[in-house]
Amino acid sequence: MAKSYQELTQNHPCFARGQKSNKGRIHLPVSPGCNIACKFCDRQINDYEDRPGVASEVISPEEALEAVGRAIAINPDIHVAGIAGPGDTLATDFALKTFRLIKDKFPDLIKCMSTNGLMLPDRADEIIDVGVDSLTVTVNAVDPKIQAQLNSAVVYHGKRYTGEEAAKILIHNQLEGIRKVAASGTSVKVNTVLVPEINKDHIETIAKTVSEAGAKIYNIIPLIPQAELAWCSAPTCHDIERAKATAIKYIDVFMHCSRCRADAVGVPGGIDISKLVYLKVLNTK
Ligand code: SF4
Ligand code: SF4
Repeated sequence: MAKSYQELTQNHPCFARGQKSNKGRIHLPVSPGCNIACKFCDRQINDYEDRPGVASEVISPEEALEAVGRAIAINPDIHVAGIAGPGDTLATDFALKTFRLIKDKFPDLIKCMSTNGLMLPDRADEIIDVGVDSLTVTVNAVDPKIQAQLNSAVVYHGKRYTGEEAAKILIHNQLEGIRKVAASGTSVKVNTVLVPEINKDHIETIAKTVSEAGAKIYNIIPLIPQAELAWCSAPTCHDIERAKATAIKYIDVFMHCSRCRADAVGVPGGIDISKLVYLKVLNTK
């Protein structure tokens, strides 16, 4: 049975409303590949970039379990085991396998998973069964014309789709998946990457739509201009505040995302202990 939204607001740093939380999380980089092609995506394996989509190495579910034990030993304030890449958590089976191992060995940890949502309707029952407590779905548009400017392709059930056809499949699956998972009592957070030139005036429609589908909290992530969207600008503080003010009419808004790496460990925005945790795991290889 998933932990309640109320409990998440107390123990999950990303659900804490208003003030910053002192609770920590460990991101487990077990998911290598992806099944869609976001135009701003630049997945990298390195030690120095501090942003989503980056990890020092992809590890196995068993190594992830070992890393969780080590992280808790170093910092007992780690309450959340999250999987957010570096690719998509449902493009391979490693994330769900990792959560099964964590469920057995660390049943009190909050299990947190991020996905682009393409495979959500297919895998929702497994997500519910393994006891994921909070699910984050990145929904950058609910209009295929806008989504097609942000994502160039999806690979769904072995077939590659592009443009608006791809966008329609992605949006349909994201919303159907959110409805299914939210109906089970699992808390759903939605992330939107704010791209001033493309979806700035679409935030209200996204927030309203995902709230109606059952999402509980909304997180606006400023674009890091890179890859195919290097020509776009990073949102200004005014753009971000305006987007939050629009969204909060429909849904709780998360105010302090630190845009963490896929292997971040510690309190978001605080000291990161991932080097201590993962170097020990990787040195044993
Ligand atoms: Fe990259 Fe994530 Fe988009 Fe996949 S869903 S292309 S990993 S940003
Ligand atoms: Fe929380 Fe944002 Fe870090 Fe995810 S990326 S753990 S939402 S602070």
